[in-house]
Amino acid sequence: MQVFRTVADLRRWSRALRSMSGLAPGNSIGLVPTMGALHAGHASLIRAARAACTHVAVSLFVNPTQFGPNEDYTRYPRSFDADCALAERGGADVLFAPSVEELYPNGPASTFVEVPGLGDRLDGASRPGHFRGVATVVAKLLIAAEPDRAFFGQKDAAQVAVLRRMVADLKLAAEIVVCPIVRDADGLAISSRNVYLNPSERAQALTLSRAVRHVESLVAQGERRAHMLIASAHGVFAAEPEVRIDYIVLVDWSTLEPVETAAPGTLFAVAAYFGSTRLIDNTVLR
Ligand code: AMP
Repeated sequence: MQVFRTVADLRRWSRALRSMSGLAPGNSIGLVPTMGALHAGHASLIRAARAACTHVAVSLFVNPTQFGPNEDYTRYPRSFDADCALAERGGADVLFAPSVEELYPNGPASTFVEVPGLGDRLDGASRPGHFRGVATVVAKLLIAAEPDRAFFGQKDAAQVAVLRRMVADLKLAAEIVVCPIVRDADGLAISSRNVYLNPSERAQALTLSRAVRHVESLVAQGERRAHMLIASAHGVFAAEPEVRIDYIVLVDWSTLEPVETAAPGTLFAVAAYFGSTRLIDNTVLR
């Protein structure tokens, strides 16, 4: 596995493969953007990329512009050596780990990508500027690596909606591939931020997946009314009064607009604070 620190190196690699693809039809590049602290969720994305593409690049960049001023940018877990090992074991050909200066050469005065409407909903509502940072860094990565496919987790479902819209609006060539949520054995969606939880917060955090499963079972029993599904999910959280709910919503997955009636493809999403740690979970209804 090669480790690149500059956009120029990543671009050179991608361009070389592309000029070869005339000779070797069927070459394809998969990109897996991450913020590092790699875990089984990231590994599943790398596996999916490996299965679908002939060449795989994993990016590892804790993107400062997607963190708010009082968020965890400085203490976000960083584990470069372990990340290299996991990416290599997963079959990545390239690990792209740029510095902040490399991706933002003009600092805060850089050019940004905004996705109006969508970018202010769900996590964008509680984390102003978050999706502007996400869209900007992913645009930079897609422009640099020119992948055929870019792999993202359904765990960050609002992020997927924002990025799909960005790719459509900017006419970027990459196909966005969405991979299922990977969970711990007890149901908690795996997240790099789970390391912040103390044992009692870790136990409370199971409320997220409990609410998700509860809503799935109500839908399976025939309930379609959004207000009833959302009220029942609030009921699940009532058992854990210390938990602060950020949002519990039923939305159209492509617009992130609230719906009144659940239908196939509707996104049920929840976010809550466990101590100072904010975690999310969701399901796409069948
Ligand atoms: P992050 O490093 O947290 O920015 O995540 C990088 C990518 O991994 C994003 O596309 C996430 O949605 C995805 N991801 C994170 N956790 C999981 C998980 N538990 N299951 C599947 N994908 C995940």
